[in-house]
Amino acid sequence: MDIGGTKDFEFNIRDPKFLDEQALWEEAKRVYSKCKDCRMCVTYCPSFPALFDAVDRHDDDVQKLSKEELALPLELCFHCKQCYFKCPYTPPHEWRIDFPHLSLRYKVWKFKNKGAKLTDRLMVNTDLVGKLSVPFAGIVNKLNNTKPVRVILENFMGIDRRAKLPPINSQTLVDWYKENRKPVKGENGKIVLFSTCLFNYNYLEKGIALLRVLEKNDLWVEIPEVQCCGIPFFDVGDIDTSIQKAKHNIKVLKSYVSAGYDIVVPVPTCALQIKYEYPLLLPDDPDVKLVSEKVFDVHEYLWKLKEKGRLNQDFRVSMGNIAYHIPCHLKSLNVGYRAVALMRLIPNTKVRLIERCSGHDGTFGVKKQTFDMAYKVGSKLFEDINSTKADLVVSDCPLSSNQIEMATGIKVLHPIEVLYRAYNF
Ligand code: SF4
Ligand code: SF4
Ligand code: SF4
Repeated sequence: MDIGGTKDFEFNIRDPKFLDEQALWEEAKRVYSKCKDCRMCVTYCPSFPALFDAVDRHDDDVQKLSKEELALPLELCFHCKQCYFKCPYTPPHEWRIDFPHLSLRYKVWKFKNKGAKLTDRLMVNTDLVGKLSVPFAGIVNKLNNTKPVRVILENFMGIDRRAKLPPINSQTLVDWYKENRKPVKGENGKIVLFSTCLFNYNYLEKGIALLRVLEKNDLWVEIPEVQCCGIPFFDVGDIDTSIQKAKHNIKVLKSYVSAGYDIVVPVPTCALQIKYEYPLLLPDDPDVKLVSEKVFDVHEYLWKLKEKGRLNQDFRVSMGNIAYHIPCHLKSLNVGYRAVALMRLIPNTKVRLIERCSGHDGTFGVKKQTFDMAYKVGSKLFEDINSTKADLVVSDCPLSSNQIEMATGIKVLHPIEVLYRAYNF
């Protein structure tokens, strides 16, 4: 399917064989037969070593793989998408390799046939967890750092006790903005901020910096009550809930797009979901294309202002040496590294890029059964960060930041917080 002329995926929920078990294993064997001869992705994640070990055990013959051996690589995929944007054989290549969507198809099939544990379903319900936790943020944040509660969470929810849980905001970003909105003329445009669960429920500080930077650039900002983008439900294969979230968000966002607003998103994963996954989830909805074409990564949007000579470049404080982690999903978004370009506008500021996966990607980084694998995936990144002499460590992805902070003890800022500090409000 062609989306906006830039992305093409091997994932068609309208295919009558989409949920057919035999067709699923046949497709897995087809993809595996190419991957086993290529093996380029062996270091990215646990999926490929699991696949190649199984193939090697069966004399290089994918036809001999058992169902369990076919399923394991798909089960272990945490959808970082590295193997998609680095693979030379993705659509429109005739081999049409799309490993992350094959994994998603498997998880959807599994959920339809076997369901998922209630605790796993709760863990991915970021809206529900956020809404229930915010009114009790003080106590929740305290309890989440106590050993007895972590033992309970590990035993009953499967959340590894070593995982760093994101903090809970004492107020949602949406509510904070209602009380603290500053008057602007909006001469640089009207935008809808897709607030994201992570900014709305977990990282108020980052959200405040974001809104102040947008106001400083004379952008008129509205924050409607959208829902989670729906990507966490991919982890358990609950595609129906993802579709439900997509429908709600498209309806809300379409009304703003029709009124001339652009949509700005501060987290690459959420932008990726709206821009490139919603068209696959709602293939018959013409509004999806209208909305997805108006979705911008926040730094991409600010850089557009720079190109028009409209960016406020009144940066007053230098930021020194910055180590910048490039999130995998930002690479998938295909909009370049505009955060880097923006930070390099700050006087006496140098930015070094670190291109390594943090291994987090949703529940994979916190679940007991995958915590060690996730940590191993991120270990090279953690070593790099630990050895850096940088003054600041920066990443656009709050979950990667959380993972880096857990492993290194070094605080990680969002690029927008760097701009906020440089403006010296
Ligand atoms: S996904 Fe593509 S690049 Fe990676 S191992 Fe398979 S064929 Fe090779
Ligand atoms: S998307 Fe990431 S986790 Fe999934 S198979 Fe590809 S590299 Fe591995
Ligand atoms: S990707 Fe963004 S919107 Fe989606 S669940 Fe995560 S934070 Fe929320």
